[in-house]
Amino acid sequence: MTSLVRDLINTVRGAGDTSHSVDPHMQRVLDQLAELHGQAIENLDVPRARLQPSPTDAVAALLRADGKNSSPEALIPGVEAEDRSIPAAGATLSARIYTPPGNGPFPLIVYFHGGGWVIADKDTYDASARGLSAAAGAVVVSVDYRRAPEHHFPTAWNDAIAAYDWVAANAASLEGDPQRIALAGESAGGNLAVATAIAARNRGAHKALAVLAVYPIAQTGNTETESYDDSANAKPLNKAMIGWFLDKLITNPNDKADTRLDLINADLVGLPPVTIINAEIDPLRSDGEMLETALKEAGVEVTRKVYSGVTHEFFSMAAVLPKAQEAVQFAGDQLQRVFSGAVHTGAVHTGAVHTGSQPRGRLEPKDHAAAKIKVIGYAAKHSFSDLKPFDFEREAARADEIEIDVLFCGVCHSDIHQIKNEWHNTVYPCVPGHEVVGRVSRVGSAVTRHAVGDMVGVGCMIDSCRQCEPCLAGDENYCEGPNSWLATYNGPMIPAAKAAGGTNMYERDNTFGGYSSMLVVQEDFALKIPANLRPEVAAPILCAGVTTYSPLKHWGVKPGDRVGIIGFGGLGDMAAKLARAMGAEVTLFTTTKEKLAEAGRLGATAVLESDEDALAALHGKFDFMLSTIPQRHDINPYIALLKRDKTVCIVGALEPMESINNQGVAFHRKNIAGSFIGSLQDTQEVLDFCAQHDIGPDIELINIDQVNAAVKRAIDGEVRFRSVINMASIKPDPRNASVEDAAIFVTE
Ligand SMILES: [Zn+2]
Ligand SMILES: [Zn+2]
Repeated sequence: MTSLVRDLINTVRGAGDTSHSVDPHMQRVLDQLAELHGQAIENLDVPRARLQPSPTDAVAALLRADGKNSSPEALIPGVEAEDRSIPAAGATLSARIYTPPGNGPFPLIVYFHGGGWVIADKDTYDASARGLSAAAGAVVVSVDYRRAPEHHFPTAWNDAIAAYDWVAANAASLEGDPQRIALAGESAGGNLAVATAIAARNRGAHKALAVLAVYPIAQTGNTETESYDDSANAKPLNKAMIGWFLDKLITNPNDKADTRLDLINADLVGLPPVTIINAEIDPLRSDGEMLETALKEAGVEVTRKVYSGVTHEFFSMAAVLPKAQEAVQFAGDQLQRVFSGAVHTGAVHTGAVHTGSQPRGRLEPKDHAAAKIKVIGYAAKHSFSDLKPFDFEREAARADEIEIDVLFCGVCHSDIHQIKNEWHNTVYPCVPGHEVVGRVSRVGSAVTRHAVGDMVGVGCMIDSCRQCEPCLAGDENYCEGPNSWLATYNGPMIPAAKAAGGTNMYERDNTFGGYSSMLVVQEDFALKIPANLRPEVAAPILCAGVTTYSPLKHWGVKPGDRVGIIGFGGLGDMAAKLARAMGAEVTLFTTTKEKLAEAGRLGATAVLESDEDALAALHGKFDFMLSTIPQRHDINPYIALLKRDKTVCIVGALEPMESINNQGVAFHRKNIAGSFIGSLQDTQEVLDFCAQHDIGPDIELINIDQVNAAVKRAIDGEVRFRSVINMASIKPDPRNASVEDAAIFVTE
């Protein structure tokens, strides 16, 4: 904590009542509220607290008394409202979408209401959200996050991130511009807005452009601030109520120190511009002041305005309170200023999906004078070697490339095939790893998709020819260029020795993957990791996830379809989760009795492959089947389970299969197909899809020095979870193996 903030926190003014003079319009609302005879919330249980009259009710009563139309549409004409559902982890959230008059795409504001995380909802705060939509000319999405005590801390914070991500991913369907998203909230919701901006910055995906925090709760540890003192008994919010809210919210006093609640002690560096609005007569006024100071000290552009003579909740009273009109307009202007700036600078990065690599032809050759970066990796030097520390160099990013600090890398079964040279094409030394997640540490001068600090992923490919028909169609994973695509490790898919004319368009025979401290990659081949997808969980999605998602998508799996997944390892697990999230009815086929119960956990039914009666009962029942078995097997029993015209797709085995009896195929015009990883667009889609549906692989985090043991367990079939290496554990090789040492093994 900074000294300035500490001084503020320690400021305690003498006790006694406030000498603030109350704005006459404000006084009218307070008098009306008193006439509604609400009980003191801090003395009630939660159900009764939620039934108490709110300042919103007082405003409506005043309007009626004045003979005015109190309907939201009449008060703020032109803004249209529609309720939608937003998926969050384990819940569907209700949200109201406010669309301003005019033609989109509009900027977007994700708005969180107040109520101490316990009471109130989007209806209570309709006037605020609706008013912001008009004042900022933006689509406002007001979110009913889950409340305490039914859902304790930090459920609301997770819901807020999920909602924010959903808005970013669905901007187009909201008439919104995904490049221009701001966060806003009041009171408890003001906290959520700032906390969500921090989370978005941390994850690096679609950062917010601006934050509006109206009388935010910026901390809960210190209730001896100046405003807690001088507004201890203020209405409609007093000090005791805040204590009551907190009591419902947290289960452990240590939660108060969690920087999602304790914003003033959070890492605020790199946040977008923040506007804070405070009311003078409000126990939370000093929270706003402390947050302002903390933001300034973190170098964040911050504007704070304190409105005199008004109280907590004044922001939603524009219909009867001129100061509130002023404040809403000020907030709208602040946001519009940032939104209009963003149109010109385009400096914002979003989770927008790839639409295929750019058909712009090959790039300039590498500048061979380019700076070299020392990298620590783990490599196999022979087919019989364990993975060992290996120092090498990468060329620094050129104009269109980015440098990534690797944080996590999944251990894929192909890594093992490659280490052991089971596909007879391994180039040694072999630094595996094509499920790479990390943070962008540097960008080349021409990079537009990513910014320093973004959380990105790299899957199986780091380049393709960009000129062939599949590449131009966005099917880079089926590149028909002379060297096919450039694999993240082990060089081009078709090496010079096997390419027509002995060419190597990539100028590299070997590439080193993600079992290393950093990676340099052409920007189009890095994917955005959504903010609410844990980076370590995202890693295996980059290969196992897209390998199963791509065929499910290609063959149009839809709600109600009956889908069979053959094999229940890592691929089968992902396939079942994805197909379930797509709305399909899933049956898993496994050889392992112990896995039958696990299938139920995924919402699928399971059948033993050896259970002939069960298979017979399923003849002609399936709309699609996916075989994930990673070696040669007999597909004939599953062909029989397909409906007429339907397809069984094989993604696991990349080798000759048991022979097929074409009678079973021809008699009902069935299809046998294959599919190989997925395109850049598919990869981005599956990341976003997993984030949206809160699904992902079951993983175990390991340190890099445990990788050989993990490989052995995978070979022995003992792995229940996908191993993901925490690359923070990688250290320089004490023996300091040099690049020259490595060169000896290149010809193996
Ligand atoms: Zn893989
Ligand atoms: Zn191509």
